[in-house]
Amino acid sequence: MKVDVVIDLCQGHARCQDRCPEVFGTDEIEGKCVILQPDVPAGLEQKARLAVRNCPEGALIILD
Ligand code: SF4
Repeated sequence: MKVDVVIDLCQGHARCQDRCPEVFGTDEIEGKCVILQPDVPAGLEQKARLAVRNCPEGALIILD
């Protein structure tokens, strides 16, 4: 499973980081999402999917 962020949609609430900090981080300058592990390890897929579902801006996408 791969994940990505549409950075123009991201508003920087860091909900993704709260749900799955192994995969999603926060840019220290702009406060927007940074993908730490674009290729999500199998053991983190459930947490990463939860983070994607909880993004209020629909900024996170699952590529496969
Ligand atoms: S939850 Fe969505 S809008 Fe908020 S920081 Fe993460 S990707 Fe950006």
